[in-house]
Amino acid sequence: MELVVPLEQVTVAVEGTDARFPVRRIYCVGRNYLDHIRETAGADEREPPFFFQKPTDAILRPGEDFPYPSVTEKLHHEIELVVAINKGGANIKAEDALDHIYGYAVGIDMTRRDLQGIAKEMRRPWEAGKSFDHAAPCSKIVPAEKIGHPDKGRIWLAVNGDVKQDGDLEHQIWPVTDAIAHLTTLFELQPGDLIMTGTPAGVGPLVAGDTVTGGIDGIGEISVNVI
Ligand code: MN
Repeated sequence: MELVVPLEQVTVAVEGTDARFPVRRIYCVGRNYLDHIRETAGADEREPPFFFQKPTDAILRPGEDFPYPSVTEKLHHEIELVVAINKGGANIKAEDALDHIYGYAVGIDMTRRDLQGIAKEMRRPWEAGKSFDHAAPCSKIVPAEKIGHPDKGRIWLAVNGDVKQDGDLEHQIWPVTDAIAHLTTLFELQPGDLIMTGTPAGVGPLVAGDTVTGGIDGIGEISVNVI
C-alpha cells in the first residue's frame, strides 16, 4: 500500500500557450515600497531587503475562489509583481539577474494582519500571518520574451471596484534585479522559483463576499472572489 498518494506538482498557466510553469518555491520580499513602509509601523527605510516564504501549494490559480482564512479578523490584500525564475543560481549579480527570469505575473500576498502583528510584537515567525493555505493568488505568467522586463508601470488593486492600492513599479526600493542579488546571497535560486516583490501603500481589509481585482501595466490582471 502506498504511504501517501503521489503529490501534485503545483503549476501556473503561461499566457498564450498550453505550457504550465512548475512552481518550486515562493519567496516574498518584506518591505519594498517607501509609502507602504510609512503606513506600517515606522520601520527603518534604509535597511536591506528581507525575505520570507509561502508554501508552494499556497498558490491560488486563476478562476479559483479564495476562502476567508480561519483565526483572523483582519485579512489584508497586498498586490505584488511576481517574478518567475527559469535559470537558477547563487550570488547572482544585479546586472546578470534578468537572464534568470522567465516571466512575470500579478499576485496578491494575502496576509492575516492581526496574526502578523502579534508575531512581530512577540518576535515569532510569520507563518501564521503569511503562509496559510491559498495565501498566494497568482495570475497567468507572461513570458519576458513577449513583454520584456517591466521596471515601471502602474500596479493597482481594487475591492468591489474601489481602488485601494495605486502605485508604480518604479517606486520599488529594491528593483527586481537588486532583490534577486540580495536573495541569492541567502538562497540558491532554482528553476521554478517565484518571487513576490512587495506591495505599495493602501493595504487594507477584505471580507467574505468581496471581489478583489488588480493589475500591473504591461503584465496582466487578477480577479479573486473572497468566499
Ligand atoms: Mn507582501
